[in-house]
Amino acid sequence: MTPSTDLNIPLFERAKALIPGGVNSPVRAFKAVGGTPRFVKRAQGAYFWDANDQRFIDYIGSWGPMILGHGHPAVLEAVQKAALEGFSFGAPTEREVELAEEILSLVPSMEMIRLVSSGTEAGMSAIRLARGATGRSKFIKFEGCYHGHADSLLVKAGSGLATFGNATSAGVPPEVVQHTLVLEYNNVAQLEEAFALHGKELACVMIEPIAGNMNFVRASVPFMKRCRELCTEYGALLVLDEVMTGFRVALGSAQSVYAKSIPGFKPDITVLGKVIGGGMPLAAFGGPRAIMEHLAPLGGVYQAGTLSGNPVATACGLTTLREIKKPGFFDGLSASTRSLVDGLAQAAKEEGVPFSADCEGGMFGFFLLPELPQNYPAVLKTDSTRFNQLFHGLLDRGVYIAPALYEAGFVSGAHTADDIATTVAAAREVFKTLSK
Ligand SMILES: *Cc1c(COP(=O)(O)O)cnc(C)c1O
Repeated sequence: MTPSTDLNIPLFERAKALIPGGVNSPVRAFKAVGGTPRFVKRAQGAYFWDANDQRFIDYIGSWGPMILGHGHPAVLEAVQKAALEGFSFGAPTEREVELAEEILSLVPSMEMIRLVSSGTEAGMSAIRLARGATGRSKFIKFEGCYHGHADSLLVKAGSGLATFGNATSAGVPPEVVQHTLVLEYNNVAQLEEAFALHGKELACVMIEPIAGNMNFVRASVPFMKRCRELCTEYGALLVLDEVMTGFRVALGSAQSVYAKSIPGFKPDITVLGKVIGGGMPLAAFGGPRAIMEHLAPLGGVYQAGTLSGNPVATACGLTTLREIKKPGFFDGLSASTRSLVDGLAQAAKEEGVPFSADCEGGMFGFFLLPELPQNYPAVLKTDSTRFNQLFHGLLDRGVYIAPALYEAGFVSGAHTADDIATTVAAAREVFKTLSK
């Protein structure tokens, strides 16, 4: 493909004239890796086709939602049927009750749930609920975790230990982030210090159990255990942001993975998105009845949405969940993801490229580093030039991974052993050029 025949280029030019950066979400612009974003024409199964009708094996899957692959027949049928019955009513439907029942049966830490339209909305509302339920203002988040773009969550660590953070976005006044305490992920000593200083003023601790917004970094079991214990001891709520991990790393979500090592482990509030909408705008937050009853119209914490519980989105999400709970689905998905990660690690080793990787269920991450990082500063040690070479090398070979080294990857039920083998072979070719 020469620049004069690449149809993505004129599309990007048209887009840039009208939409800031040519995209409706920043990472899509390829700013970190350079080059022209691929404009997607259509997708099916594990693949999408760009403006040139070039096919790519898709390891983004809309950043997680497409766990069944694109255009799954059962999901397509449910969405088409729902669309014929009406797009949006602004009144309750049976389908949202069915979706609530389905989600609560799979994630038993929640007794009640509220449906919204995006992960940002769910995360923002979870913080408001935690503050309303506890009557406290301050909360803890961790560096490298992303919880959507609500003002109080766009914060990076301040200069000193256990100090309040600085806004990471223009347009967020310092007063708005003055209650957000930003700590290092997986740092138990710092967490304990923060609780000793501010524990009685904390509404909640918000955490991605497996952080997918600094590539793929797991909260260690002792760290997660300490988060739970300290929240309980000080009367703060533990908010697990499972927007990415929910129904993606296991049928019971990441909390079920931690419950295997920490008996009785459950969060107070769970935030969900991505997979629960199956590719449609749908997200949710939920928890025990006593907490959820603080929400309007029962309680004083206000939260609302014109399109919340949208009938077409709930049809898409409900059918997606019913497909992934079929026996064997997660075993197959986990095996595919594992074989990808193992294949990449083996190829990197043979080609002499420093490499580490991890996965859980249908989510994975890899680093051009000899050891898996445990927190954001360690993730930053990745050589971005080499990552960008790898990204473009794979793209040229029809493999589409995240265009930034801070993002996790996703395998779907539609990825075949052949797709994985093709991907590993492509990576091996690129690794050969990297090691020189
Ligand atoms: C994607 C994501 C969000 C934000 O969800 P949107 O639907 O993009 O607003 C929040 N938290 C986590 C962990 C996410 O991965």
